[in-house]
Amino acid sequence: MQSTLTKLFVSWCLLMLAVPVAFFWFRPGIVPDHEFEVFAKLLLLVGLAVAAGLTFTYTISKRWVKRTATLQRFADALPAGEADLPDGGPEELQSLAKAMRAMASRVRQVVDRANLELSRRETILACMAEGVLAVDNNLKVNFCNEAFASAFNARTPVVEGRNLYEVVREPVLRDILERVVKTGTPERDLFRLPSAAGRWFEARALPLGNKLIRGAVIALHDVTDIERQEQVRKDFVADVSHELRTPLTAIRGYAETLLDGGLEDGANNRKFVETILSHSIRLANIASDLLVISELDSNAGPVAPSEKVPIMEVIESACNTVEGAAAAKRVRIVRDDCLPCAVLGYRFRLEQVIVNLLDNAVKFNKNDGEILIECGPAPDGKVRVSVSDTGIGVPSEELKRIFERFYRVDKSRSRAAGGTGLGLPIVKELVERMNGTVTVESTLGRGTKFTILLESA
Ligand code: ADP
Repeated sequence: MQSTLTKLFVSWCLLMLAVPVAFFWFRPGIVPDHEFEVFAKLLLLVGLAVAAGLTFTYTISKRWVKRTATLQRFADALPAGEADLPDGGPEELQSLAKAMRAMASRVRQVVDRANLELSRRETILACMAEGVLAVDNNLKVNFCNEAFASAFNARTPVVEGRNLYEVVREPVLRDILERVVKTGTPERDLFRLPSAAGRWFEARALPLGNKLIRGAVIALHDVTDIERQEQVRKDFVADVSHELRTPLTAIRGYAETLLDGGLEDGANNRKFVETILSHSIRLANIASDLLVISELDSNAGPVAPSEKVPIMEVIESACNTVEGAAAAKRVRIVRDDCLPCAVLGYRFRLEQVIVNLLDNAVKFNKNDGEILIECGPAPDGKVRVSVSDTGIGVPSEELKRIFERFYRVDKSRSRAAGGTGLGLPIVKELVERMNGTVTVESTLGRGTKFTILLESA
């Protein structure tokens, strides 16, 4: 702008000089010889006109230059500039300044909104449980949230522009991101990642940007627990089918034997029917234990201590239940060391716990053995109930596994005794639901002691 004005000014000066020079050049007669005075006056007039023009043009151009410089500074400072555009300056530039002021306010609004949106998204992505990572078309990391970085033990914060392989060394992730960047097609996959402690992830990858510069974003959802539950469920179904098959096969086999002439076999027919009976008892036991397990799994059972239960009454009732089985093995049940006290619990479930423990204490006892039941107050406002037997005991390396579903130290012995492998898991689950704990001590060949701690009422 300044240079245009200067050029205008110089052109104007030259024009002002050129007019009188041309006039005298082509009309020399107007200046007679020696009449220099007229010529000098004319020249002076021209000089004055030039000086006036110069001053005028300089003043005007200075105002324009000053104002346009202000406008330029204002425009340069956008959108961050806080300064306002003051009024004033040439009239022609005032409407431009007004338009720029309105534009600046709109630009600031748009930028503020964009910044707010950006920080909102970053906060949401940062606190998401899902791992999120974005890469550009060269597989350089644009964004990586905390969850993603911690799943792969990457150092946080992940610096923008780092190569993907420096953050994650998983070929499966590289492949999926490469494919999405190349084809622009969203992808979904489920995989187990060794570098993320072998956890299972469901990944969803989407393209980012346009065809020319296409990046990709991947979101990882940790499904390890779901996968584990699914595996537990599959194992459980397999175990149940296996457990049911054994008695069912035996029942079917013996029934067929009876029909194929076994009924007439006076020496063995009673034995066949007894075997069918014992296997059907086992089936009934499995069915009832499975019912309890499924009730517990579906959270239908008691979740918190709900009533005051006199422990002596529960022990009495449980003893009555196993009395017959104990008598058959001449096992003596001693409960002289029981002090009357009450616990916070659920009566029916508590009785089931004691019955399961007594049932095992009979099953795995020796003939003429003994079962000792003790109960009484324990420290920290608890009540201790223990069931000890003089049975076969449990090898120490097996102790930590006997609370697992379907786990039995000696499968054939347990089955022969009508066991299901679900008694102790039910005990543990029920006791824990009553805010209690169950522990076991055992000496092989000498006996086992289960101790329950429950909240005193
Ligand atoms: P089961 O129906 O076989 O008794 P449990 O879950 O009650 O199933 O017990 C699991 C296993 O723990 C039993 O098969 C047995 O090997 C062992 N066990 C439980 N209680 C005793 C005990 N009092 N003495 C010896 N072994 C026991």
